[in-house]
Amino acid sequence: MKIAILSRNQHLYSTRRLQEAIRAAGHESMIIDHLLCDLIIEQEGPSIIYKGEKLEGIDAIIPRIGASVTFYGTAVVRQFELMGAFAAVQSQAIVRSRDKLRSLQILSREGLGMPKTAFTNFSKGGEKTLIEQVGGTPLIIKLLEGTQGLGVVLAETKKAAQSVIEAFHGLKARIIVQEFIKEAKGADIRAFVVNGKVVGAMKRQGAEGEFRSNLHRGGKATVIRLSKQERLAALGAAKALGLDIAGVDMLQSDRGPLILEVNSSPGLEGIEKATGIDIAGEIVKYIEASVQKTDRKKRIK
Ligand code: ADP
Ligand code: GLU
Repeated sequence: MKIAILSRNQHLYSTRRLQEAIRAAGHESMIIDHLLCDLIIEQEGPSIIYKGEKLEGIDAIIPRIGASVTFYGTAVVRQFELMGAFAAVQSQAIVRSRDKLRSLQILSREGLGMPKTAFTNFSKGGEKTLIEQVGGTPLIIKLLEGTQGLGVVLAETKKAAQSVIEAFHGLKARIIVQEFIKEAKGADIRAFVVNGKVVGAMKRQGAEGEFRSNLHRGGKATVIRLSKQERLAALGAAKALGLDIAGVDMLQSDRGPLILEVNSSPGLEGIEKATGIDIAGEIVKYIEASVQKTDRKKRIK
């Protein structure tokens, strides 16, 4: 098989590990920078021109699309889908998961646990009710477009909450206001899901005095065994969003696991190092099984 990794940087840990795993399984691997792809759309035979040449014979792709290039990246993934290549993560599912608010709405429809969340268009004087709705302070205010823990604020008092909400309003930034889960104690859980199975899980603990557990913010990861409830929540979240590969982030609370977000390009470094599991190999095994199932004749060459 010829498997392409859509990645902007061949030196990234995740890209390198996926390439290794593809080769170790005896397949041909290729790294394609999605931003250098030109998409040719016509009545018959959609194609992609990459560095001056038409891409051909690619059986499967592993999209690693950064949040800042979601629009172009998912257009490229969609083009590969049209060309009959198997996408390990579907373009539609990436688009869905990138919209945090829409994702939470979908998860709530499935009855999955999450911190109580409010979205506001900043109605005049509405902050007070909003703050009460999520159980008062302390509370969390998040930029809808934030990643890696940047844009997540813990407001300890009503006054602080009000002024932060006002400040974001002034900047015309879109935010959500969220119940603060104190008992998570600055930790969260990352469950790595591949094809309906949790293939690895870790607990991330924030640095001393830090409520955010992101590894980018100095958090430390250790391997963890999930409870059945946590496993089911992770699998349910990935399934609800249509993601066959997902990094599901959850908080451990007094009322069970609460989903924070579902990542469609979850990093491999933290989870492989914490668990010692060959997650890249699991992804390749999943692709092998899926491509065998796909009716090759149906594909447009
Ligand atoms: P990002 O997408 O930027 O990583 P998250 O929503 O995952 O943003 O929040 C970053 C971190 O902040 C989480 O990993 C968690 O440790 C902490 N956190 C986020 N929301 C809450 C909350 N409602 N209650 C307690 N801690 C939270
Ligand atoms: N992109 C990283 C991941 O999904 C983020 C990890 C972090 O926020 O620390 O694994």
